Amino acid sequence: MPATTQEPLHKEANQPPPTEKTTMKAVRFHGQKDLRFEEVQIPKCGKGQVKLKPAWVGICGSDLHEYLGGPNICPTSPHPITGESVPVTFGHEFSGVVEEVGEGVEDFKVGSRVIVQPIIYDGTCGACESGLINCCYSNGFVGLSGWGGGLSEHVVVPQSSVYNIPDNVSLEVGALVEPLAVGWHAVNISPFKPNDSVLVLGGGPIGLAVIQALVARDSASKIIVSEVSARRKEFAKQFGATHILDPTKDDIIARCKELCDDQGVDVVFDCAGVQAALTQAILATRARGTIVNIAVWEKPASINVNDLVFKERKYMGVATYVKGDFKEVIEAISEGRMKPESMITKKIKLNEVEEQGFKILVEDKGNQVKILVDATAF
Ligand SMILES: [Zn+2]
Repeated sequence: MPATTQEPLHKEANQPPPTEKTTMKAVRFHGQKDLRFEEVQIPKCGKGQVKLKPAWVGICGSDLHEYLGGPNICPTSPHPITGESVPVTFGHEFSGVVEEVGEGVEDFKVGSRVIVQPIIYDGTCGACESGLINCCYSNGFVGLSGWGGGLSEHVVVPQSSVYNIPDNVSLEVGALVEPLAVGWHAVNISPFKPNDSVLVLGGGPIGLAVIQALVARDSASKIIVSEVSARRKEFAKQFGATHILDPTKDDIIARCKELCDDQGVDVVFDCAGVQAALTQAILATRARGTIVNIAVWEKPASINVNDLVFKERKYMGVATYVKGDFKEVIEAISEGRMKPESMITKKIKLNEVEEQGFKILVEDKGNQVKILVDATAF
C-alpha cells in the first residue's frame, strides 16, 4: 500500500499507543461443581521462569475429584508455597510453546516445544533434600495449588519444571507424558523385576500407563488387568495386557493363582482404589509379593493385616514422579517403545471444558481414556 494512503495509527499526537493486552481466558475452579471460563490477569515472567502458551491439556481424574467433591487438593487457605487459595486455574497435564524466558534461563528459547512437570516443591525440606520432590512436606501442583495452570492462554512456571520435547513427539502426545510418568515411576520404585507377573487393577489412564511402562521395558511375564468396562478392556489389550479379567464375572484370586504357578502374582498395581478389589488383590499376590497403591482413595480403606503378615506380603504407596521420570518417558516415546496416541479419546476447546470434558467423564467414563483440551481454541 502506498505510504500516502496509509492512515496514521494515532490521529492525535498526545494519544498513548494501545496498551498491551493484560488479561486472558482461563478455566478456574471456584469450588464443588463450580468451574468458570473467565478473564484473569496475564502472569508476568520473572527471573528463572519460563512463560508458555499452553497447547494441549489433559483432564485428570484428580481434576474430576476436585470438581465433584472438592476442594480437597486445591487449597482453601493460602498454600504454603504459592500463597494462593481457590479459585485456581486448572490443568496440570500440558504441553505448550515458550513465549518468553526470564533472566538466567538458558535451556529454553522462544518457540521451544515443551511440557511441564507440575510438582510445586519448596526444595528445602528433608524430602526435597533427599531428591523426593514428590514427597515435599509442602508440596502442591501447578494447575491445582496456584501458579496458574494449563487451562489458560498463558502460564508462567519455574524453569526447573520445564522439559523440551523432541521434534518427533507431538504436542498432543506431550500432554500425555504427565499421566504416563505416574505409571512409569510406580514401576520404577516398585520391586518389579524382569519376568515377574503383574496384576493391574483398573484400565483407566493410570492403569494403561502402568501397562505401557511394563511393555516399554519388555520384561513382564504376564500383565493381568482387572477391569469392568468393555472399551477399557479393549484398550488394556491393545496396549499390551496379556490377560483381561472382569471382577464382576471372574474369581480374581483363583484366576491369578491359576495363571501364576498356583501362587499368585508378584506385583499388584492398584490404579482403582476400590475396597473389594484391594481385598481380593492382596490374596491374589504370592508370598513376599507386593501390592503397590497408585490410586487416590476417596475414604480410608481396610486391610486385613494378617493377610500381609503370614505371607510376608508388602503394601506400598507411590506418588506422582521424581526428576528423571519425565525424561525417561519422553525418551521411550521418542524411541517408539511407547506409543500412547490412542489414549486420546476426545479433543475439545478451552470454553468446552465443563460441558464436553468434566461432564462427559462422569456420564461416559467407560468409553473415555484421555480428553485433551486445545488451550488455543475457544
Ligand atoms: Zn520440600
